[in-house]
Amino acid sequence: MSTLTVKAYGAESTTADLKEMNIERRETTPTDIEIDILYCGVCHSDLHTARNDWGGTMYPAVPGHEIVGRITKIGNEVTKFKVGDLAAVGCMVDSCGHCDSCKQDLEQYCLNGFTGTYNGKDKHLGGHTFGGYSEKVVVDESFVLRVPENLALAAVAPLLCAGITTWSPLRHWNVGPNSKVAVVGLGGLGHMAIKLAKGLGAEVTLFSRTPGKTEDAKQLGADHVVISTDEEHMNSVKGKFDVIIDTVPYVHDVNPYVATLNISGTLVLVGYLGGLEPILNTVPMIMGRRSVAASLIGGIAETQEMLNFCGEHNIVSEIEIIKMQEINEAYERMLKSDVRYRFVIDMKSL
Ligand code: NAP
Ligand code: ZN
Repeated sequence: MSTLTVKAYGAESTTADLKEMNIERRETTPTDIEIDILYCGVCHSDLHTARNDWGGTMYPAVPGHEIVGRITKIGNEVTKFKVGDLAAVGCMVDSCGHCDSCKQDLEQYCLNGFTGTYNGKDKHLGGHTFGGYSEKVVVDESFVLRVPENLALAAVAPLLCAGITTWSPLRHWNVGPNSKVAVVGLGGLGHMAIKLAKGLGAEVTLFSRTPGKTEDAKQLGADHVVISTDEEHMNSVKGKFDVIIDTVPYVHDVNPYVATLNISGTLVLVGYLGGLEPILNTVPMIMGRRSVAASLIGGIAETQEMLNFCGEHNIVSEIEIIKMQEINEAYERMLKSDVRYRFVIDMKSL
């Protein structure tokens, strides 16, 4: 298969800084779209992958799954897009297309495994997939999203992961005007969860460890802010929430948050992957039919639904634009929760 060489930015090993490198992209097949990447958001998952926090990272690792850009080439069977259109790509670039999950537009739960935009198995070229920290990407049109034209393009990029990852559980657990929603952690996912829950009409509370974020949270739309390290403050919201979206990336005690769920309420983990510590106490769950659940990104149709909703409600991410060469510093700031509230790389700086 013929390929084109493009510039990218990636890590050669667990401990290496990201640096410039060349990667190969396939030439467009009849159903493919080639996108000139204009902006790429920086997700905490990029950092987890570059540093092999979850195990299984294949190197070189080129992260980036919040991609927006302009179409430069299309295959001759492409019907939904034309050259010159804006387009976006999120966390997936392929799935089997025929399992029960795929048939229900739940490609993220493909029973044969979806192909991640990065660190996935490349079905075309062999080896592994490379993400959006690069000049161009080539993706099958069924995994390409339409961008609402009225939104600021750079601030749309984070919707492709932070947006859909919080939208999907809000929709699945039927959040609407009568819902009381809480969000744990004000970072990339957390700030989108506030905006989207508010857009759906819910009353929204933020749980944060960082008192300095209170004003920002209110500006983003939060009705209340609870400092999670303040026991008295936590006690004041016991039994209150219908849905909690927990975005914390590292192991943490979820029991104090379960206590703030209403009867039949659900706490949805979207951040941390792995065993819970300390042990999850089932007493408040059994005594109040409360659930602890989890959720992974969202399907392609649901991602388009979220983008359209954002277009109609003028919702975008709060961003700080960085140059590609600033990515290593950006990761260090992300580790200190010093992001307001998503870094977006200007890919023309590469
Ligand atoms: P982020 O921007 O770094 O935000 C995480 C926030 O969590 C921080 O701003 C901080 O908020 C809080 N926090 C950080 N460390 C904490 C700790 N040790 N204890 C308690 N709170 C802590 O990260 P993100 O990009 O939003 O991603 C969040 C997580 O979601 C990552 O693990 C990422 O891999 C994962 N993720 C999952 C999916 C999915 O499909 N399920 C999709 C995308 C990302 P405060 O300062 O307000 O406390
Ligand atoms: Zn992500």
